[in-house]
Amino acid sequence: MKITITGTPSNFAKSVKAPITCTKCKHKDEHRLIDLKNNPLVRCSKCDNKMQIQSDPSVQKALSELEALDKQFNNLLGRK
Ligand SMILES: [Zn+2]
Repeated sequence: MKITITGTPSNFAKSVKAPITCTKCKHKDEHRLIDLKNNPLVRCSKCDNKMQIQSDPSVQKALSELEALDKQFNNLLGRK
């Protein structure tokens, strides 16, 4: 039996975003967790303030769980 799930993000780890509030102008931006993992330096889209995001262990944990979920979904759907 082949199952199809529609409307499923192809990659959970890449879909989850975290709200980051600018330390300078308090502008709120959304950044993908995966980007924060790869590059913890984010730039405010409003005032160009650069912020170093502390890599929180909970972010790392959430990401590894999302990556595991992606793997399970890909197996389930026969995606490689
Ligand atoms: Zn700002």
